[in-house]
Amino acid sequence: MRVISLGSGSSGNALLIEAGPSGRTRLLVDAGLPCRTLINRLHLVGVSPAQILAVLLTHEHDDHTLALPNLLKRYDPLVIADPATLAALAKSPHQNNNGADADPCSVRNQPLPRPEDQTFSSQRHELQLADSERKAANLPLRRTLALPAGSSCVLGDVEIISFPVPHDAVAPCGYLLCAGGCRVCVVVDSGSVTLTMLEAMRQADLLILEANHDRERLLRGPYTYALKMRILSPTGHLSNEQAAQAILQTWRADGLRWIWLAHLSQINNTPHLALSCVQRQLVEAGATLQQVHLATLPRAMGPIWDSTRLWHDEYWWPGGKLSH
Ligand SMILES: [Zn+2]
Ligand SMILES: [Zn+2]
Repeated sequence: MRVISLGSGSSGNALLIEAGPSGRTRLLVDAGLPCRTLINRLHLVGVSPAQILAVLLTHEHDDHTLALPNLLKRYDPLVIADPATLAALAKSPHQNNNGADADPCSVRNQPLPRPEDQTFSSQRHELQLADSERKAANLPLRRTLALPAGSSCVLGDVEIISFPVPHDAVAPCGYLLCAGGCRVCVVVDSGSVTLTMLEAMRQADLLILEANHDRERLLRGPYTYALKMRILSPTGHLSNEQAAQAILQTWRADGLRWIWLAHLSQINNTPHLALSCVQRQLVEAGATLQQVHLATLPRAMGPIWDSTRLWHDEYWWPGGKLSH
């Protein structure tokens, strides 16, 4: 099993999952990047968008579905989501401010760039996306698989188990993906942590978990009061502290774990803040950091996780080799 982050954060999320012989079962979890960016990043890892069997959606917000209209138009992958999410995507009129029809891969709702200040531009983009997170696309959904949150199915080489998460979307969910004896758990966009989520997270070899913001930084930051309250609410987004607490509750002293902190806000968080918060709590709880491979996901192309690492890790096999 191979897992590749194609983008993570308030400005767009997509994960590529490959499983089975020669990675023949290829899935995306979310497709919230501009279509052209998504396709370029797939090509970088040797995958054509036509090889994507299905797109699994966590929820209908733009930063998880942005590329879908054009992906559907050009490649028609199967779309898997809770039936309420599928209905929301099919019904809601999408506001296209940017002439997306003229350019099938243009970025919707993108503010005009200020070339002299890229940081300002991308931060303004995040602010705008955060404000418009509730929008959904009017999608021509033809090939769908309704997977109610809390149920499971098998697609190719992957068993897909979905579970509900608390977020202000119609039916947000996380996924536990199992293939070849490996398990990957994906939880992004969740305002709080439930027992069901912890149960799924506990089983993961690779856990991808939202660490959206540093609470103090968010409160001091430029967001409106209403937006701050929405993010901090039990159906908003997970803070570094909440992510750390959840990891502590699922961490196994006898287990080996890869953790990717995801959906970091560019304005209200930094990779250093997120990592140090989680590391501090793990150390205080007696965890040995060599047992936990911890990383933050960047907005751009992220790390690649290959499940063969499970069997070739120096922690378990001193010298990095299996003895026969
Ligand atoms: Zn969301
Ligand atoms: Zn999101």
